[in-house]
Amino acid sequence: MSDFLPFTRPTIDDETIADVVAVLRSGWITSGPKTAELERALAAYLGGGRQLRVMTSATGGMEMALRAAGVGPGDEVIVPAMSFAASANVVVRVGARPVFIDVELRSRNATPAAFAAALSPRTRALMPVHFSGLAVDMDPLNALAGARGLRILEDAAHAIGTRYRGRLIGSFGDIVSLSFHANKNMTTIEGGALSFADPALALPLDRERFHGISKDAAGNVDVYSAGGKYNLTDVAAAVGLGQLRRLEGFNARRRTLAARYFERLAPRLDPDMLPEPGDDGHSWHMFAVLVPFARLGLSRDEFVARMKARGIGLGVHYPSIPGLTYYRQLGWDPAAFPNAARIGAETVTLPLFPAMADGDVDRVCDALLELMKR
Ligand SMILES: *Cc1c(COP(=O)(O)O)cnc(C)c1O
Repeated sequence: MSDFLPFTRPTIDDETIADVVAVLRSGWITSGPKTAELERALAAYLGGGRQLRVMTSATGGMEMALRAAGVGPGDEVIVPAMSFAASANVVVRVGARPVFIDVELRSRNATPAAFAAALSPRTRALMPVHFSGLAVDMDPLNALAGARGLRILEDAAHAIGTRYRGRLIGSFGDIVSLSFHANKNMTTIEGGALSFADPALALPLDRERFHGISKDAAGNVDVYSAGGKYNLTDVAAAVGLGQLRRLEGFNARRRTLAARYFERLAPRLDPDMLPEPGDDGHSWHMFAVLVPFARLGLSRDEFVARMKARGIGLGVHYPSIPGLTYYRQLGWDPAAFPNAARIGAETVTLPLFPAMADGDVDRVCDALLELMKR
């Protein structure tokens, strides 16, 4: 009996663990030199010319970014119906209204045309989500936002290391939010970063991140807004520096494993059940398939339990946002977003993480195809 295979697992190497121990012993464990070093390293990775800030989560970063950009009551932000709930929650938290749009079935991404169709006089910002690390078609979307004077906040929680037409996500565009949650392509345990173009956002963001504080030229502290508290610790930053060193290798391994999934599954499954293959810019944060549970006469819970009994963990990413209780109570009808509804009902995330062996992919495929034969 082989070991249980979870749907994801972080890879933390011994060098990183030693770096964390060194920070713990250093006498300075909260935001300090390691946090500054991580910001410099991320800025260098993204190619320079960008403002870069790290914080305790992508969710906190997106909320701060919207607030710093002046998005608030009376404003609408266009958000895909298929994403993690945080994408919409942050819009509500700044007092604005998320306006949902459907996604494409296989890419799980919203098209520029879908964003354009949802524009209203109240639209202030667009939130593309690079689902599973597959880049949204950003050039037409940036052109649309530019023509209309709209902000774009990219939810790139899945997309560190993703390339769009050869350019890293986060190296261009208005505001890009990255997540370093434990399950993401690189981690700081919990954490996130914002990469943005507009230097005018830096001051309000710094104040949002740390108590509304700025220092004057003499170093005296004063408070200029009722800021929050979202600063990353140096312990977390040491983890992030170790992860960033290996990110390109991690993502290359993810691409190889995804290719093996396609090799095994494409001949056996209906194309709609498989994700869009993308190109070699895809960072493969997740590999999710759609399973026709109704046709199989099996609930998703039963399916997940049977895979678990075979030593394989599955995830569910995600239920459609308009179908969640809170958003239904706001009046949204999940049936108005049929692709998101179908993905939400049929999706399961297969194991995919850099430390997996090729044989693990085969194990997953054998178990999956056996359960689907019924
Ligand atoms: C993980 C995730 C977030 C939130 O990231 P945190 O760092 O956990 O706050 C937001 N959006 C998407 C699509 C995510 O997957």
